[in-house]
Amino acid sequence: MLPTLFLSHGAPDLVISDCPARDFFRQLATAFGRPKAILAVSAHWETAEPAVNAVEVNATVHDFGGFPEALYAIEYAAPGSPALAQRVFALLTQAGFPARIDTRRGLDHGAWVPLIVAYPDADIPVVQLSVQPRLGPAHHLAVGRALKPLREEGVLIIGSGGFTHNLYEYFHAPAGAGGEPEWVTSFADWFGRALAENRVDDLVRYREIAPYAEKNHPTEEHLLPLYVALGAAAEQPHAQCLHQSSAGAVVRLDAYAFSEGATG
Ligand code: ZN
Repeated sequence: MLPTLFLSHGAPDLVISDCPARDFFRQLATAFGRPKAILAVSAHWETAEPAVNAVEVNATVHDFGGFPEALYAIEYAAPGSPALAQRVFALLTQAGFPARIDTRRGLDHGAWVPLIVAYPDADIPVVQLSVQPRLGPAHHLAVGRALKPLREEGVLIIGSGGFTHNLYEYFHAPAGAGGEPEWVTSFADWFGRALAENRVDDLVRYREIAPYAEKNHPTEEHLLPLYVALGAAAEQPHAQCLHQSSAGAVVRLDAYAFSEGATG
């Protein structure tokens, strides 16, 4: 059965930058093979209720400003899958979520940044799922648990966000000036340990108990896709750290795989 993944997608210019995170995305297809379809949970699609896109071919959404011109010409026209979208909708509504299907939405850069590097041929169907920033980790964990059957159906579930994501500090703290600050390291270490030790309840309460949680995530949307991936893996998921790197001094681009734990 496929694991689920949490990827930190970084900025859109990651795809034209020579950096460790891009190298990491490049080997994903080798590491995890070719799924039948991909469900991408993007931090950049925020809705009040879970929304899933059902299109024949995904449009490429260039949902950013101030980046090099070349990035606006990028197209990642992966096929969609209305059938998978219907399946996601059915699983969510069966679990009691007021989900909806969106027949217009394409893939934003939360989805296409990692995918265009990992699966450049754009020939695997991709369906995108939104996050609900007001509803927090427990809701997203439950969304993930509802979607768990997809893993047995050959669907690779990817949560795409950011392991730490304070963009104000990113733009105002010069890279390399003293290295990674303690408020980033202590949060990332806490979170990584909680994942390694399977402390799901602590992870759900991270905002109350993790050091510098709000400083690293002034808003939560970039961490919430992780909880969907975690929930879709198992009740007691086994977390494997796949990658660690940073953009600048404060934005961590760590990535994880989640699978059945020993007791899950
Ligand atoms: Zn982002």
